[in-house]
Amino acid sequence: MNFLRRRLSDSSFMSNLPNGYMTDLQRPDPAAPPPPTATSPSQQSERRASQPAQQPQQAHSISSITNVVKQTAASAAGFVEQSATSPSLSKKFKILLVIDEPQHEWAKVFRGKKVLGDYDIKVEQAEFSEVNLISHSNGTCIVDMQVIRSGTKVVRSFRPDFVLVRQHAFSMAQNEDFKNLIIGLQYAGVPSVNSLDSIYNLCEKPWAFSQLINNQKRLGSERIPLIDQTFYPNYKDMITSPSFPVVVKIGHAHSGMGKVKVDNVSDFQDIASVVAITQTYCTTEPFIDAKYDIRVQKIGVDYKAYMRTSISGNWKSNTGSAMLEQVAMTDKYKLWVDTCSEIFGGLDICAVKAICGKDGNDYITEVVGSSMQLIGDHQAEDRQLISEVVLAKMSQALATRSSSASRSPARSPQGQKPTTVQPQQVESQSLTNAFSAFSDSSFFRGVSSTGGDGQDEVKAETIRNLRKSFASLFSD
Ligand code: ATP
Repeated sequence: MNFLRRRLSDSSFMSNLPNGYMTDLQRPDPAAPPPPTATSPSQQSERRASQPAQQPQQAHSISSITNVVKQTAASAAGFVEQSATSPSLSKKFKILLVIDEPQHEWAKVFRGKKVLGDYDIKVEQAEFSEVNLISHSNGTCIVDMQVIRSGTKVVRSFRPDFVLVRQHAFSMAQNEDFKNLIIGLQYAGVPSVNSLDSIYNLCEKPWAFSQLINNQKRLGSERIPLIDQTFYPNYKDMITSPSFPVVVKIGHAHSGMGKVKVDNVSDFQDIASVVAITQTYCTTEPFIDAKYDIRVQKIGVDYKAYMRTSISGNWKSNTGSAMLEQVAMTDKYKLWVDTCSEIFGGLDICAVKAICGKDGNDYITEVVGSSMQLIGDHQAEDRQLISEVVLAKMSQALATRSSSASRSPARSPQGQKPTTVQPQQVESQSLTNAFSAFSDSSFFRGVSSTGGDGQDEVKAETIRNLRKSFASLFSD
């Protein structure tokens, strides 16, 4: 005990402890939990703030811990610090997380819509850059988001029931790699439109293009007229190109970024030297003297086709000014987009991009998924169509989840029964969890002296004693 007392008064030891660790240790045995009530985080902090009069030292250490750490600790222990928006506290709504820019107000699109008969949809919207999450193998995913709305910082913590991804999950432009969040959502099995699997697979353009190549092999280049493309995993073999001009597309980026038109071999070598320092792959394709760009989109079972003609004369029609017109859906376009919609297990929302050359030929260049930008005069209608796809997929996913949950209840990471824990309980449970983790260690095995059931009793007694010792250390 003296050793422990010395160690605990050693400031370097204290500062090296994980956040929140000592606070748990300082807490005495939890009192019998109060009747469960739904409390918001602010109510909890008010309640914590009312405790210092009785336990000044404890309150001091509580104040040194941020709410974020609290949430993280509770989450890491397998429990959710429920916010007022948690679906577990109210069975009347399900949470739809929409990843999109704030100007697209998805809450309005989903207003009044229901899933599974009578569940309202609560939309939580944020950009990728505003989101963080923790996922557990038992299927729990807690999303934290901090968004600025009308100059006010809004902090939210919730468990999404479904996700709609309307932003690119990846770009090699700075700070635009959100694949880690896609992995996190997938890890917890959060259902999504498009599927997280397909979103991840669309994060590298040549990888996606390889699927189109497979389809071209299957259906023929007459029906799937892909542009000729060459892939270079790095700059090393970029010596020359069979013809000029070519378009060099470096890495994975959007909005015309990283695309260069190259007219001759010396410029090609210059670009190769740029690729060398980007440390990524690139593709080259012949420069098409374009009449216009084509985009064929499919949202659920709705099809639309557009043509875009550059006005400002930029060879990239998505840069500078351009004229956009809706054109008739032809069988040819339908085949393109239907074929593309089958890749990576199916894309509920997708578009295929092509260039119509002055030579009269079409050249398919790319497929995009649910992050595709809406264009043209029917964007409001397209948003409604997207919401219908989401509703259908969300109902399906929730129905599957509830039927599988009734067959085999999910288990929490520590093998305990899944519990909706009230925030008051979170702290005591996380303390118990910390001790449970230690109770499996050789340290506690050494303490136990009897076998069988008695061993458990000894462990429990040891834990109780340790708790009291730690508590008394700090109440001195
Ligand atoms: P977005 O973010 O709009 O999808 P992007 O960054 O993916 O754009 P691309 O669509 O590949 O870039 O190219 C941008 C534009 O450059 C195209 O819209 C097209 O007008 C032009 N372009 C692309 N490839 C070629 C090519 N091989 N020949 C001629 N023009 C091309």
